[in-house]
Amino acid sequence: MNVRTLVTGYRDTLVHRLGKLVSIKSVEGKPYPDAPFGLAPKAALETALNMLREDRFKTVNLDNYCGYAEYGQGDQVIGIIGHLDVVPASREDGWNTDPFCMTEKDGVLYGRGVSDDKGAIVASMIALNVLRDLQVPVNKRIRLIMGCNEETGSRCLKHYVEKEGHVDFGFTPDGSFPGVHGEKGMISAVYRSENSRLLDIYGGSAKNIVCPRCTVKTMRNCYSSKKLADFFNNNSIEYSVEELEDGDVITVYGKAAHASTPELGINAISWLLVGLKEAGIQDPFVDFYCSRFGLATDGSGLNIKLADEFGELTLSNGIISMSQDGIIQGTTDIRFPVTMTAKAVLKAMALKMEDAGGSVEIVNTVEPLFFPMDSQLVSSLFDAYSEVTGDTIHRPETIGGGTYAKSIHNTIAFGCAFPGKDYHIHDANEWVGIDELLLQAEIYVHALIKLLEIE
Ligand SMILES: [Zn+2]
Repeated sequence: MNVRTLVTGYRDTLVHRLGKLVSIKSVEGKPYPDAPFGLAPKAALETALNMLREDRFKTVNLDNYCGYAEYGQGDQVIGIIGHLDVVPASREDGWNTDPFCMTEKDGVLYGRGVSDDKGAIVASMIALNVLRDLQVPVNKRIRLIMGCNEETGSRCLKHYVEKEGHVDFGFTPDGSFPGVHGEKGMISAVYRSENSRLLDIYGGSAKNIVCPRCTVKTMRNCYSSKKLADFFNNNSIEYSVEELEDGDVITVYGKAAHASTPELGINAISWLLVGLKEAGIQDPFVDFYCSRFGLATDGSGLNIKLADEFGELTLSNGIISMSQDGIIQGTTDIRFPVTMTAKAVLKAMALKMEDAGGSVEIVNTVEPLFFPMDSQLVSSLFDAYSEVTGDTIHRPETIGGGTYAKSIHNTIAFGCAFPGKDYHIHDANEWVGIDELLLQAEIYVHALIKLLEIE
């Protein structure tokens, strides 16, 4: 029998299992001694492992951080690495259905996790079953690894690596087809200033989101109101000014975007401070900010406008605040090209870190992930995808975000999103087509066969 026919035979199993997993509200909760991420993620893991035991696979629970099912023998391990935890959801966020009661309409499933990532886990379960049905020779151990903490820190996968080591070939069904062969490196930084006449400044709520709204309080008459208004109006920037006795309160309304694509947002901090400078304010911090960041999202102010054939460095400022004693602090999120190292980027930046108006300090760095297109891993997965779907237009891509793949060696993201589709992941009305999950399972069967064939 061919793979497609075998996969289709599991259609009801797939829908039934996914419904069961979606009904467990596996958002991170209060930790208990044997439930590091709360009781619901633990329940989701136990349920998924039970399903795989019913399928007669060997299963292992690693302290309720994560668990896996294993099929085959051999020295090498092929990992499929997904997650069972989900981000919160409630009817008030605009869901048309109960997010934790999976609903089917015209072949489409709705519910939190149907796509990210419970659907992918269930599709992977089906792939394992079909692979066994096919009785292909299995010379490696195939593990379906299921974590419980991907959304809030990936401590689950760290625990897996500590206990079981890395895998020899792996993919995480938590990105997109036909695969993500590079993920940019990251530099988290803070900038600080003790040298400002601003009376207050605050904005942003997340480090990895372009600041959508920022408010500054200045002394009266320290800038030209007309120049400020002209600057904002000429650039179609939304803003408001409140004139109080002890100063002016100015707010800029920008547009949020993910820090990996800052060019899609409007950074309220940047527009507000550049606007004040244009309007003639004399302030060492404003000068510092405008020279190091300004309106650029390419790092040019810090001397790190860098790019490789796969993409450009991006820079995004998220949160800013002023402490009681007048010290300004803000967060910066830098994503650098997949073929570069953090060391090289920091070296380019070193001379630009400090002046009288402020300083930039590095908090954390994460090296990029990169596998060449012609590596065995990338080419095997891509071939499986294009042979099953017939799609030769889309190619594996590189991204600015990070997936599980950064936490375990020899692994890239592969699926579950098909090109150009928006499944409302992390949003209201998350959905997936049943046929898409079946297609995903079929691609995974072929991908596993190709990985098994590697000598
Ligand atoms: Zn995910």
